[in-house]
Amino acid sequence: MTDNRIPHDLPDRIRHYIDGEFVDSTDGDVFDVLDPVTNDTYTTAAAGKKADIDRAVAAAKRAFDEGPWPKMLPRERSRVLHRIADIVESRDARLAELESFDSGLPITQALGQARRAAENFRFFADLIVAQADDTYKVPGRQINYVNRKPIGVAGLITPWNTPFMLESWKLGPALATGNTVVLKPAEFTPLSASLWAGIFEEAGLPKGVFNLVNGLGEDAGDALVKHPDVPLISFTGESRTGQIIFGNAAPHLKGLSMELGGKSPAVVFADADLDAAINATVFGVFSLNGERCTAGSRILVERSIYEEFVERYAAQAKRVKVGYPNDPATEVGALVHPEHYEKVMSYVEIGRSEGRLVAGGGRPEGFETGNFVAPTVFADVSPEARIFQEEIFGPVVAITPFDDDAEALALANNTRYGLAAYIWTNDLKRAHNFAAAVEAGMVWLNSNNVRDLRTPFGGVKASGLGHEGGYRSIDFYTDQQAVHINLGEVHNPVFGKQ
Ligand code: NAD
Repeated sequence: MTDNRIPHDLPDRIRHYIDGEFVDSTDGDVFDVLDPVTNDTYTTAAAGKKADIDRAVAAAKRAFDEGPWPKMLPRERSRVLHRIADIVESRDARLAELESFDSGLPITQALGQARRAAENFRFFADLIVAQADDTYKVPGRQINYVNRKPIGVAGLITPWNTPFMLESWKLGPALATGNTVVLKPAEFTPLSASLWAGIFEEAGLPKGVFNLVNGLGEDAGDALVKHPDVPLISFTGESRTGQIIFGNAAPHLKGLSMELGGKSPAVVFADADLDAAINATVFGVFSLNGERCTAGSRILVERSIYEEFVERYAAQAKRVKVGYPNDPATEVGALVHPEHYEKVMSYVEIGRSEGRLVAGGGRPEGFETGNFVAPTVFADVSPEARIFQEEIFGPVVAITPFDDDAEALALANNTRYGLAAYIWTNDLKRAHNFAAAVEAGMVWLNSNNVRDLRTPFGGVKASGLGHEGGYRSIDFYTDQQAVHINLGEVHNPVFGKQ
């Protein structure tokens, strides 16, 4: 391992950013931030608690109530958002370097995520100026129109798997629509989030509009969810955390957007283009280290091609290049944190008694320390198995055979999750009928996860509630007030007539 792995100018402390200033926690508390390749502490971050959230929310509320941001014309806000996109794009290499170092994601994939973060801002910068709202005429009697208004302080809570990109996914629409925000990034990966402050200042975002509080979920996240001056919570993370947040937000009747876990099926029929299906399903579960909410982590294969598929898939999985995150040749890097590594490894152990191990199964050769897991493939996994039912969120896949369409559908729908589904067949009728019947918020036919930012994003069942993506994000971050104008006679019976 060489030292060129470690980025220059790492901060010796990652601070909160409140009301335009970098600040420590009120109580001075910090937590350790680890390098996933060595698990050494490379810096510390301010550990926010209720007092810090209170300060951040007060700043955001002041910026909302008294500042220019919510009242600016969409075009003016759009210009700021485009500048943010330009700056993110111009710093993509540095962003990717820091993200890859902090999260263990392979550098080439972290670079793709940095560019996607810029694109998220550009997309909402465009959308907000193109935004049209409904107007309805009742001829001769009424004109009715919609006033779209920002809501206030949005609380944004994000996970560690693609930190910067997922933050942009919430920050873009929340800011485009004129809200002010408090971001609580994931505690495993606070490094890249600390760059937002500088980017926003340079782009001309007014003071107090963006605030960031680092800290543990049960402290800083919990205080944000329970704060009475935060009417919106947009959360991405585990389904279990989503349930807790639902409960805590209920007394305040907050608006909630919930992007949760997944255990998505990739269904391969015998008539599929097998080369394409194998390439896509290998990428679908091993890219982003398998730490991907939409990973196709259950592969269902028609029995007539099952043995050939398993053999070819296992051979290809064994060729996937595990390496140091900063190496451009690396395809699978290091998992984010030793706690997560232990969780993934425990599923690898469970899998040994639940399926036939055909690739991986532990640490890759040559990586005796750090959070490295070899791409692991279990075949012949039954639907009752824990590795079939539970989200592992690592480079581990379960393969299961099926005999006909009905069984494929039953297997695909046989988990509590419903985020994505990938279907491989050249039969047009089957593809569309299967897509309509599968319990998933998003379906890809003969394709990997390639997103069109205009389409709805979200899951069904335990995978989430509500959809973001395109104008749906605008809907989440705004109120739509209906205004009714009478043009004719006043339209009601007269009560209490003389
Ligand atoms: P997590 O639920 O542990 O944490 C997510 C965030 O919530 C973190 O910032 C954490 O600090 C915070 N948090 C934890 N407890 C909290 C509480 N009680 N109150 C408020 N905030 C709290 O999830 P994770 O391990 O960081 O991320 C992995 C999970 O995210 C996986 O389940 C994955 O599928 C999911 N995910 C979903 C999507 C999607 O769009 N559906 C995208 C990416 C990741």
